[in-house]
Amino acid sequence: MTLDFEHVTLGQRVLFGSGKAAEHLAAEVLRLDAGRVMVIASEFESAIADRISAQISPVLRWNEVVMHVPVETAQKARNAATANNIDLLVSVGGGSTTGLAKAVALATGIPIIAIPTTYAGSEATNVWGMTDAARKTTGVDERVLPVTVIYDAALTLSLPVDLSVASGLNAMAHCIDSLWAPSADPINAALAAEGIRALSQGLPAIKIDPNGLAGRERALYGAYLSAVAFASAGSGMHHKICHVLGGTFNLPHAQTHATVLPYVLAFNAPAAPEASSRIAAAFGTVDPNEGLQKLRGVLGAPRALEDYGFTVHSIREAVEVVLPQIPATNPRRVDRESLTAVLAAATTGEDPKILIDL
Ligand code: NAD
Repeated sequence: MTLDFEHVTLGQRVLFGSGKAAEHLAAEVLRLDAGRVMVIASEFESAIADRISAQISPVLRWNEVVMHVPVETAQKARNAATANNIDLLVSVGGGSTTGLAKAVALATGIPIIAIPTTYAGSEATNVWGMTDAARKTTGVDERVLPVTVIYDAALTLSLPVDLSVASGLNAMAHCIDSLWAPSADPINAALAAEGIRALSQGLPAIKIDPNGLAGRERALYGAYLSAVAFASAGSGMHHKICHVLGGTFNLPHAQTHATVLPYVLAFNAPAAPEASSRIAAAFGTVDPNEGLQKLRGVLGAPRALEDYGFTVHSIREAVEVVLPQIPATNPRRVDRESLTAVLAAATTGEDPKILIDL
């Protein structure tokens, strides 16, 4: 990688500490001098939100959270925030909850404190996403970058192992895709490599001991690094594919990323020697595909898109939507035929190796 680049580091405060979320939140609300706090948490996350917001007396609790942030859901939450003169948003939950807070911030400029409970990483990016009539739109805006992120691994203990694995592999996808994304540079590559290391240590530890904090902390640290790398490097081929599968075909976000990743890696790796050797080194293997597949095997990772309702009949439509979005910087040329092959293999869960010599 050439040392001739422009890198932007996003500014936000990160507070990390297991069991410290309530204390950190109360201190941040005070520091930001917020008087009218809206806490956003889905009904599944509300027990966690109750626990950690006990010291801050929110004026509004919002639990209408829908995956991929439909515009109607965003509008309702914005109206409520405006009607209640909210001056601080606190999101407690996964990427869907953070995404709703971002949609409110985008329209109102109200700052966000994000308290993530999955490994999605949205809390560390200035990227927003919303869905309107089965089309997902994303954008970049400084207003949606949370001013503070509070990481507390204890809040992720209730995330079931299969969701933890899928979510952690979503973070892994941020790292790997960052290495050939349009604004890849030596700084975000270094963050991505450390993210791969942290996730490949943390996720197996969660699988072995779901109630232990050590693996959860490591995975959360890796998830943060992955998101910082992704926010800086931008969306590569993998994210463009998953974004369409989620927005147009309503596939579950984390599982889709976890499923598609080995196929994009197998396809791109032969044309991206530097990224490949970084990925392999981070996994501690000679070959990057071997490293990812070994980890997926240990974790019992999601297998095929058809397990989530996507069928071979939808591949043609998906290819037409994805193809124009593939970044020109992708290391390997992507055409209709190769993209169809990548999606077909991911749909049925074939061995990704078939894409190496395509
Ligand atoms: P999610 O937020 O939809 O959460 C998945 C499920 O897990 C939900 O039912 C949720 O209630 C539950 N859950 C969350 N935390 C839990 C916990 N600790 N214990 C038990 N259950 C818990 O899924 P996600 O994968 O975290 O986020 C996906 C969304 O985030 C997508 O819409 C995606 O586009 C967005 N995202 C955005 C960015 C960005 O930079 N803008 C980055 C990553 C993801």
